[in-house]
Amino acid sequence: MVAPKIAATTLTYLAQHKSIPMKKSKIHKDHPTRTETLLTHGGREPAAHGGFVNMPAYRGSTIVFEDLASLDDHTIRHRYGRQGTPLTAGLEDIVTELEGAVGTCLAPNGVSAISLALMACLDAGDEVLITDSVYEPTRKLADKLLTRFGISARYFDPRIGAGIADLLGPATKAVFLESPGSLTFELQDIPAISSAVSGRDIGIIVDNSWATPLSCRPLALGADIVVHSGTKMFVGHSDAMLGTVSANEKHWPRILETAHALGIIASPDDSFLATRGMRTLGVRMKEHERRALDLARWLESQEIVTRVLHPALPSHPDKAIFDRDFSGSGSLFSFVLPLAERSVIAEFVDHLALFAMGYSWGGFESLILPFDPTKIRTATPWNEHGNAFRVHVGFEDMDDLKADLAAGLERYRKSLGT
Ligand SMILES: *Cc1c(COP(=O)(O)O)cnc(C)c1O
Repeated sequence: MVAPKIAATTLTYLAQHKSIPMKKSKIHKDHPTRTETLLTHGGREPAAHGGFVNMPAYRGSTIVFEDLASLDDHTIRHRYGRQGTPLTAGLEDIVTELEGAVGTCLAPNGVSAISLALMACLDAGDEVLITDSVYEPTRKLADKLLTRFGISARYFDPRIGAGIADLLGPATKAVFLESPGSLTFELQDIPAISSAVSGRDIGIIVDNSWATPLSCRPLALGADIVVHSGTKMFVGHSDAMLGTVSANEKHWPRILETAHALGIIASPDDSFLATRGMRTLGVRMKEHERRALDLARWLESQEIVTRVLHPALPSHPDKAIFDRDFSGSGSLFSFVLPLAERSVIAEFVDHLALFAMGYSWGGFESLILPFDPTKIRTATPWNEHGNAFRVHVGFEDMDDLKADLAAGLERYRKSLGT
């Protein structure tokens, strides 16, 4: 067989490509990195990518091996597209560092990250304890899918704290927390729950999507695994979906093994957008926090508002836990209006100019969502009398946002007939 003739341009390209020094980022090794420097410099290797500041999105399945020795070398990090690319590895490194974890796996969205964490901890016959305030799709995953594999779920009062000791049985292998709950905003006492389960073979998983690791680091508080809907604050622009699972030393091997077995990875383009989102996460979080607190305080001063549920407000029942475990707050909180018919709620939300209704959050745009936890909860009743609304505060002018809500509250009051 005649060897194929390789064009001169291709040879030049190959020669140049090989000469690019594969310099590793120095920033984690040589000195401790502060969060905002990590967000700016983490996961980048310009010298390995023609000098480009940003890591490119590798769209690829096949990775070719130079020779048999490299095919046989299973320590090579990138061997096939499903196991990630330099870009996804860089994003994983950023999240690992932020969470103080041993490793991170990316997932296509938050729900698949949650499923990965649960499946890594649980075997047939095991039980998972879940906070009653949990994100509804997490509850569906446990009740509808995990039960098919012989895993049972029990729900507990989000404020149970050390009292969780009374629920632990020989089959309990995981505790799932979401602090705060992303609709009703109860905080969970992670250190107390961690002490109560210590010495047992139980993995504590925390959904940390609201706070992000910039405001709360669950592993340092005694959790084992942290999951994120990266779709929200990491991506930050409502234009991509992502999930992350980070774990401590004990749980990391099982997470990695389960992710590989299930074939869980994020897409190249979503990983690119999430990495770009990470560069501004610090400034965005500060601005979301300031705006959400401003709007929450303003709502508290409105006569028709019966309750504002924001963990950083002095009126919140879990403020002491917030002050102890969090260094900042998020974009999202809820408030309650007097009980009214569906038509009154429609008068309020259907005519808002700036707050659109939508399930997600974390983007630049403000959102509102009416919700009713009474139908969802099973362990503890929802005791607020009224209609609840969740808001995500975006980057519109604050006076415009307040004017939009003020007009809506006035419509609510009028159609309520008070
Ligand atoms: C949105 C959300 C999820 C799910 O994330 P997706 O990326 O939409 O799958 C999980 N947990 C919380 C708290 C969320 O808000």
